Amino acid sequence: MTERATIPIAEHRYNTALPYVPESPQAPTGRLIDSRSRPLHDLRVSVTDRCNFRCSYCMPKSVFDRDYAFLPQSSLLRFEEIERIVKVFVSHGIEKVRLTGGEPLLRKDLEKLIERLATLTTVNAKPLDLTLTTNGSLLSRKARALRDAGLQRITVSLDALDDDVFRAMNDVDFPVSDVLDGIDAAARAGFRSIKVNMVVKRGVNEHQIVPMARHFRGSGHVLRFIEFMDVGASNGWRLDDVMPSRDVVAAIHSVFPLEPIAAQYGGEVAARWRYLDGCGEIGVISSVTEPFCADCSRARLSTEGRLYTCLFAAAGHDLRGLLRGGASDAQLAGAIAHLWQSRDDRYSEIRSSQTQGLRKIEMSYIGG
Ligand code: SAM
Ligand code: SF4
Ligand code: SF4
Repeated sequence: MTERATIPIAEHRYNTALPYVPESPQAPTGRLIDSRSRPLHDLRVSVTDRCNFRCSYCMPKSVFDRDYAFLPQSSLLRFEEIERIVKVFVSHGIEKVRLTGGEPLLRKDLEKLIERLATLTTVNAKPLDLTLTTNGSLLSRKARALRDAGLQRITVSLDALDDDVFRAMNDVDFPVSDVLDGIDAAARAGFRSIKVNMVVKRGVNEHQIVPMARHFRGSGHVLRFIEFMDVGASNGWRLDDVMPSRDVVAAIHSVFPLEPIAAQYGGEVAARWRYLDGCGEIGVISSVTEPFCADCSRARLSTEGRLYTCLFAAAGHDLRGLLRGGASDAQLAGAIAHLWQSRDDRYSEIRSSQTQGLRKIEMSYIGG
């Protein structure tokens, strides 16, 4: 496979500011609305910026090499700090938390964090929807412990079934069979409706779309196809490399006929399709060709505690600074409320030649 030259990234992880803390913050109401009337509904938490894969669309080797300076241990949010921030978000009405990274299963003792978060309930007294996205490489070993710790759902990223294509895409020669074993182990541990995410890059793995559909049809797992996005500044993204979701659906439909089905909830990012023969469903996430900024209700917390209100934001807001500076929960809640209420992001809707030059944070740092 030939890879296009990548662009070196500017170091802007530290492009951050201490958030404004209102002098007399109001108590959380359980519902926060941004300047475009979008509620705050879910939080992604990156637990590490490290990964054992080097997917070219995310952490190309040319940038993330042995000289790359990953965050030191002291910079990482500790589990009790993550729990405290999540609790404040819960008081503002979030219902869902996704743990991600980097590769989240590389974070030591992750089960202990899961145990803490699994006990939380939403403002409506429902259990917090706690889930995790992983590359699956360590899942065979860890699925049972994750489940026992209280994790309810899991998403596994898998870009190809063909071993050569998969090894080339993860760029560390990791075999596909180990990830497939990990998915089986997760099912045995009791995870239901496992989501399998495939990023489609034109000319790289588009010929894997139908084999992937064939493999996961009827398995009870939900395969979802993601358009290759221009996140970060290192993956050499070009619009020509994006395979539009409508082409993915057409390719599958020509072999296994599909029909659209309704979203399960407002703001769902994946458009859902079901196999006419009853063998389950697929999803497509069209971040590039059909942006869903108008419904985007997601905040992201980086490994070192910066809050980002958009995947494409150039700067984060230093919640860790507030936390370690002695802020009270009320002050933290006030700062988060102010940030969300001022939020105006809609990068994918305005993506253009002007936005291409922007300094953007890397996916592996902010969490996908
Ligand atoms: N390492 C874990 C994994 O791969 O599942 C979690 C972190 S990864 C950044 C989260 C998700 O982001 C993965 O499903 C990955 O395929 C996706 N991703 C990364 N870079 C992407 C890009 N440029 N476009 C679309 N999806 C991307
Ligand atoms: Fe690692 Fe996930 Fe990024 Fe691939 S997509 S390099 S597995 S963080
Ligand atoms: Fe949300 Fe930003 Fe993505 Fe739009 S571009 S959907 S606002 S994260």
